Amino acid sequence: MGRKKKVKKRDAICKYCKLFQSSDDRRLIKDGTSLIDYRKCPKAKKEVSDLAEACDQFEMNQVFWCIKWDCWLDVRVCVSRRKKEGEGCVRCSQGRIIGEINKEKR
Ligand code: SF4
Ligand code: SF4
Repeated sequence: MGRKKKVKKRDAICKYCKLFQSSDDRRLIKDGTSLIDYRKCPKAKKEVSDLAEACDQFEMNQVFWCIKWDCWLDVRVCVSRRKKEGEGCVRCSQGRIIGEINKEKR
């Protein structure tokens, strides 16, 4: 309760959603050189892909996969590093999106 938030359609995708990350019902499908992560979403009651556009039930997950560093990162750490341009942060576009979604969630 209270954490549900409408987000900008262009920014939010399912892989940043808590419901997606907490779902164990998943399958990985190879698509050329990429792997698409499909999971059963308990809110949408259907299978969604990691890159699917988020719905109105989106809830920001506390951690996300930082593509640049190849590791899980807390959203707050990304926002802070991006502001300071510190600790090897390259202020990437993924971080900008994370920052925007995080702002909207408050
Ligand atoms: S469909 Fe909605 S609730 Fe389900 S994972 Fe995507 S954004 Fe989250
Ligand atoms: S801005 Fe990009 S490189 Fe910097 S911490 Fe965030 S996701 Fe990682």
